[in-house]
Amino acid sequence: MPDKLLEVTGLSARYGKVNAVLEAALQVGAGQIVTVIGANGAGKSTLLNAIMGALPTSGSADGLVVYDGQQVQDWRVERRVAVGMSLVPEKRELFASMTVEDNLLLGGFRRFRAGERDWRDEMENVFRLFPRLKERRAQHAGTLSGGERQMLAVGRALMAKPRLLMLDEPSLGLAPRIVREIFHIISGLRETGVATLLVEQNARAALQVADYGYVLETGEVVLHGPARELADNPRVVESYLGLG
Ligand code: ATP
Repeated sequence: MPDKLLEVTGLSARYGKVNAVLEAALQVGAGQIVTVIGANGAGKSTLLNAIMGALPTSGSADGLVVYDGQQVQDWRVERRVAVGMSLVPEKRELFASMTVEDNLLLGGFRRFRAGERDWRDEMENVFRLFPRLKERRAQHAGTLSGGERQMLAVGRALMAKPRLLMLDEPSLGLAPRIVREIFHIISGLRETGVATLLVEQNARAALQVADYGYVLETGEVVLHGPARELADNPRVVESYLGLG
């Protein structure tokens, strides 16, 4: 595997006394696309939130999260963002009454305030990936289609120039054509050097785009391997890929 960017070991997360993730272990190499597939309620969102330090207040986690050689499991979310970790939550959480451009600007706010780089360059990079957002730059986020909102959520995360982009079900609720478009873009991110940890119920699409995959069942990693091998694994085919 390329240089290890993220290594998670023995990660458990619970809500009250109920374990949603149990002793999970996974790795993401620099520039890799790694997917975690699993059914509804398997613990996928909880796993991402625990890695990001963003569990709801009812939740708690323990275990090790090593990012770029540093143990970050006790760090606050902001500090993890500052070193290049980024999470696009399932609900996308855009500012509906703000324009596309302003939503993007907010994504890079921390960097631009620090005077790191001209925001126009960064926004042009995002617009190259998502030409549709450029056409709609002055439109309110609340009036975008589902697919465009997902693009904006990913674009906003990219404005912070992450090295690890965690995506929680980017295909949720989108038409098949838009899902293909989104996955095509995710695959293109590889060339930009960003590593992606992709959580998906759409196992077929996720395994097509990923280098490596993990299968999560009731909070536990039950299988893992190169994405192509997982896609041929009888257990995965039967439980997650159906007959098609
Ligand atoms: P989905 O694909 O449906 O989003 P998921 O695999 O992402 O599911 P999680 O959302 O991580 O699964 O949920 C894992 C388990 O934890 C579920 O049983 C869920 O009901 C429970 N859970 C999630 N969030 C909370 C919470 N805030 N409080 C209590 N239980 C929760």
